[in-house]
Formats: sequence, C-alpha cells, structure tokens
Amino acid sequence: MESLLQNTSLVQRAYWLVKLRWVAIAMLAFATLAASNVLGISLPTSTLYLTAGMLVIYNFLLYDLVKYSTWGGKEPTPQKIGRIITFQISADLFILATILHYSGGIENPFLFFFVFHMIIASILCSKLQSYLQATLGVFLFSLLVLLEYSGSIEHYSLIGFAGHKLYLDGTFVLGTLFVFSVTLYLVVYMTTSICEQLRKQQDDYERANQLLEEKDDLKNEYVLRLTHDIKGHLAAIQSCVNIVDDEIVGPLNEKQKDLVKRAYRRTSKCMAFITALLKLTRMKLTGHLEMDHFSLKNCIFDALMAVQARAKEKSLTVEYNIDPSVDDIYGESVLIEETITNLLFNAARYTREGGRIILDAKDDGKLVLLRISDTGIGIPDGELTKIFEEFHRADNAREVERNGTGLGLSFAKQVVERHGGKIWAENNPTGKGSTFILTLPKGEPSNVMA
Ligand code: ADP
Repeated sequence: MESLLQNTSLVQRAYWLVKLRWVAIAMLAFATLAASNVLGISLPTSTLYLTAGMLVIYNFLLYDLVKYSTWGGKEPTPQKIGRIITFQISADLFILATILHYSGGIENPFLFFFVFHMIIASILCSKLQSYLQATLGVFLFSLLVLLEYSGSIEHYSLIGFAGHKLYLDGTFVLGTLFVFSVTLYLVVYMTTSICEQLRKQQDDYERANQLLEEKDDLKNEYVLRLTHDIKGHLAAIQSCVNIVDDEIVGPLNEKQKDLVKRAYRRTSKCMAFITALLKLTRMKLTGHLEMDHFSLKNCIFDALMAVQARAKEKSLTVEYNIDPSVDDIYGESVLIEETITNLLFNAARYTREGGRIILDAKDDGKLVLLRISDTGIGIPDGELTKIFEEFHRADNAREVERNGTGLGLSFAKQVVERHGGKIWAENNPTGKGSTFILTLPKGEPSNVMA
C-alpha cells in the first residue's frame, strides 16, 4: 500500500478512523434527534437509531480487528493494515448510502459527506484505490438515487425540510449526480496530487537526513582517529616535559623551570580538551552503553567527594538533599557519575568565592530528578539551550574561566539522552546563578538508545 504514511502511522490512522466513526455515530443520533424533535422533520427515527446502534457494534468489532492485527506488539504488514483501512472506507460508503436512503436520499445535503471519505482514502490509500473508492461512492449514490427515482425502492422524504418531490425531478437528479461525481473525482485528484508531493518531499527529507547522518559518522570517525593519534603524541610530550620538570635529566635554572612549567600547563590543557573530544566522539559514534543496576546514591556521593577539594579552594558551601529512596537505577554508572561530576565542577568553576552549590535528588516514581544549582554567574537567557551544543561557551563564562572545552555539557546530554532521560538548564528565579536539571529513568527503559 503506497500511502503517505509508514506502517505504524497506518495503524494509528486505522484507530483514528474508528475514533472518527464514534463522532459520526454520535452525530447521526444527535441529528436524528434534533431533526425529528426540534425541527419537526419527518424521519424514520427508529430505523436511524437502530442503524446508529448497529454502527456501535460494528465499530467495536473494527477496533478489535485493528487491535488483533497488532497483537503482541507485532507490526502488521502494510498490505494487511491497508486491507483493513480499505475495508473500513468501503464499508463506510455503504453505510453512508444506507443512512441517506432513510433520510431523504438526494434531498439530504449530508450527501456531501462522501467528500470526507474521499479525502481520507486519498491520504491513506494508493492513488488507484482512492479512485476506486470514488467510483464506489458514485456507484452507490447513483444506484440509490436511480432506484428511488424509478420507484424500485421506497423514498423517505424529509417532509418539513426540502421539496420532497425533488427525487422525482429528472433534471435535478441528473444535475446533482453529475456535480456529485465530478466533485468526488476532483477531490480525489487534488488530494492525491497534494499527497504525492508531500510523499516526495518526505522521501527527499529522509534521504537528506540519511546522507547527513552518514556524513556525520564519517566526520566522527575522522575526529576519533585524529584525536586518538594526537593523544598518543601528547602523552609522550607530557611525560618528557614531566621528566625535565622533575629535573631527572639535570638541574634547571629559574627561566628554564618557568618555561617547562608553562609547557606542561599547556600540554595538560590540550590533553584535557583532546580527552573530552575523544570521549564525546566515541560516545556519539558507538553509543554503546554497558548498562547494569547500580546505586545512584553512591554515585552522587562519589561525585560530591570529587568536587570537595575544588569547592574548598574557593570557599564554596556544598549542600545536598538526597531522597532516601534514591538508590538503585539501571544505566552505566561510570558515565552517570562522570556527568554528575561534570555538572558539579561546572557549578564550582562558574561560582565566585564564598558561593553555594546545592544538589537535590528526588525519586519521582519511575524517574529520578537531579537538580544541581549554584549561586554563580548564571547563563545568558538566549543561551540556555545553546550551551549544550558542542564547543559553545557563553561570553560571561569566558570572562571568569578562560580554560574550557565547551564539550562537557554536550557529553552530559549524550549520556542522559542515551539513558532515556532529559537534561536542561534554568536560571534561578532569585536572579543569582543557574540550575541544571536532569531526569533519569529508574528501571530498564524500553527506549534506551543502547
Ligand atoms: P566548559 O565549561 O568547559 O566551557 P561545558 O560544556 O561544561 O564546557 O559548558 C558549556 C558552557 O555552559 C560554559 O562555557 C558556560 O557558558 C555554561 N555553563 C555550564 N555550567 C554553568 C554554570 N554552572 N553556570 C553558568 N554557566 C555554565
């Protein structure tokens, strides 16, 4: 079935048709009630209510049919779900023709409800099937009108609404049939044309997306190889500089000591950058997580321990408030701990002397909610989401901390999202400092991107 939608969307649309039918059934009952009781139009009300009742049973059966086709979470083939949808639309055309028969036939303006079915068919079915549905619609309506005209079946006039001899007026009957048929085919033609364009755009978009992903992988592989190589050379340079700095190969004068120290600092900075880039690229490329159950509480305590020394240097107060129930979660403990440590270190870096860092951990049933707030420099409002992009650093952060890679938060985002969680930043309502919030599923989520 070459429709605009994929299989899963087709299943959703099959359910959508069932939902629409509930509305149509309610409308039928309401219109019958209003027409006969309020407007005083004569109608075979019991037949119409009976039809509405039978439609309720029919719709429940259809619901079960769609449900059965996806039993046990299996995805039905496009052909199978296509057949169900085609059956639903064709059956609806029969039902609509039947309802029209009991409510004035050609004199009932609801005859243009056939148009809705044509639009639905054009969106959900192939072009050929849509035209076949239009033909079925034209056939059923013409049959009804002609049988009533010839007196072969009874005509139920809408006495009190329209000229109730219109169904016998040959010119009116032929004219209406002509306009009706042209309308149905035109609607199918226009809707299928629009759908075809959309389908083409969707294909182009998917192809472009796939190409971008392939290019991104290629770029990541290149960066991975490059950073890996550079890291090896840097490690060698660093250990050589270290040996010279330790004066193992001979004493240094003050000037030499200063230069060697500077070289060591620079290589360390470069090493930190390369290590962060390597870690992020590896994570993006392989995305593999060694998931297991672990104690998040212990992870948080280890991260808090790691930041203590840095906090002490800047006389920062570190407070924490961890729900007793925050403990066992499913994920990769090393990465989660690294992420929390990153956030705590950022809080320490971007908070001036004497400030506060507060860590809150709450158990929200299925999720754990972590909030790391500080009384630091805050984040410019327009950059609250940009800071999660690779290499992005806000200007106010550059002023207080020259050394930064702009990679820590991208890494944190990758880790959290691969665990099926979310991370975002907010500025504190007090106007001082910011808060990083992250959620992590506790159990083994089905949508983990491992
Ligand atoms: P880095 O800190 O090395 O620059 P990150 O990716 O960890 O890289 O952070 C990106 C940017 O986010 C920082 O440069 C800074 O602008 C902003 N940022 C992160 N944490 C904080 C914080 N606690 N307070 C204010 N700004 C922050």
